[in-house]
Amino acid sequence: MKENIVIIGGGIAGMEAAKQLLCLGYNPIIVEQNDHLGGHVSQWHQLFPDMTPAQDLVRRLGEEISEANIFLETTVSYVNKLKDGYNVMLNNGVNIVCRALLIASGFKLFDATKKEEYGYGVYDRVITNSDLEAWFNGKQDPRIPDKPARVGFVHCVGSRDLKAGNSQCSKVCCVTAIKQAIEVKEKFPDAEIYCFYMDLRLFGKKYEDFYINAQRDFGVHFIRGRVSEVGEAIDGRLQVKAEDTLAGKPLKVTLDMLVLMSGMVCNPQATEIARMIHLDMDDDGFLRSRDNVYSIIESNRPGVFYAGACTGTKTVPETVAEARAAALGIDAYLKSL
Ligand code: SF4
Repeated sequence: MKENIVIIGGGIAGMEAAKQLLCLGYNPIIVEQNDHLGGHVSQWHQLFPDMTPAQDLVRRLGEEISEANIFLETTVSYVNKLKDGYNVMLNNGVNIVCRALLIASGFKLFDATKKEEYGYGVYDRVITNSDLEAWFNGKQDPRIPDKPARVGFVHCVGSRDLKAGNSQCSKVCCVTAIKQAIEVKEKFPDAEIYCFYMDLRLFGKKYEDFYINAQRDFGVHFIRGRVSEVGEAIDGRLQVKAEDTLAGKPLKVTLDMLVLMSGMVCNPQATEIARMIHLDMDDDGFLRSRDNVYSIIESNRPGVFYAGACTGTKTVPETVAEARAAALGIDAYLKSL
């Protein structure tokens, strides 16, 4: 009989780990709280830097794990430490005993309503990065005007922001803003696009090319400065105040739509499991790896492994790589017992 490995979270990390564990001869069991697999990526339209359709990745992984056991719309009620493993109790009454457990619960987007100065949930034409992706994917959104003449993107919403309780950089939102700015420009070629940033953090492969293309081929304007206030004019358009810190001048611009680049915070599901089995948490609110250089996929508890954004902000390629590493780590751990 194949050995059970419980995977908490059915996003890209959980799916990729399940695929590798199947190849290694295990019985991966995915526990996913939503009614579908793929996590945030399943809601995304295209992935940088190659503009790969996000749905293709989710579909392909889904096909590759067709033999895995998957519980959708299911959460973990409790985890007990046993002498040589864990008893995982699900909210549907199922109990699973396993010697190794993978946490792949991912992240949650920062709640943009907490940044009141940007007016999300107050003004009709303020949306988030994830709202825009849903619209790219065909979801109707009355907040998005038919022919916007001017669109703004605000970087670092809820990231690098001590007042919001998150000092870390979410790592992918600079390049996501550039990707979305290009996509908006493709849909509305006459629109002027403004990105308001503190710093541009474009470390990944081809990210810098993306930035150059956005300026050269799409005429996106990059303004270094924080948006300080958003208000609504009588015609519903947005009055945005910012400071251009390179020019050293205050700036006022009228926009038809403002997109907030909400950052990543730890999924509360991970925090809850950490409490149950005494996993270490980091100051940034994410799970703490045993060692951030050499053992990022290992926890402080025997047999508990991590993959993806449960330990911090991650790109999709990093998530996939960690999921593969975690599957190998689990295999090596079990063989060492
Ligand atoms: S990646 Fe860019 S937008 Fe995101 S938190 Fe870091 S600096 Fe801000």
